[in-house]
Amino acid sequence: MKYWSWDIIKGLLPYFALMILIPVVYGLIVILKNKAKNKIDKKIASIKTKGGVCPKCGGELIMRDGKYGSFIGCSNFPKCRYTQKQ
Ligand SMILES: [Zn+2]
Repeated sequence: MKYWSWDIIKGLLPYFALMILIPVVYGLIVILKNKAKNKIDKKIASIKTKGGVCPKCGGELIMRDGKYGSFIGCSNFPKCRYTQKQ
């Protein structure tokens, strides 16, 4: 009786490989997604905290709504026309 012949094991190998690979690949995707999310969160946080002080006049930088959408600009407008590209 040869239930576990090498042929059967060879036939099952791809399934074993998949069983190992799927969780590994899934885990990697989750890690990469979290990394990307952290990057975006950090960027948003840096914009929020950086958006504090105007380098031209030292005034406060605030979100403003303009003709072409919202942007970060100086609260001393129109005295100071500093704007920050997003
Ligand atoms: Zn300013």
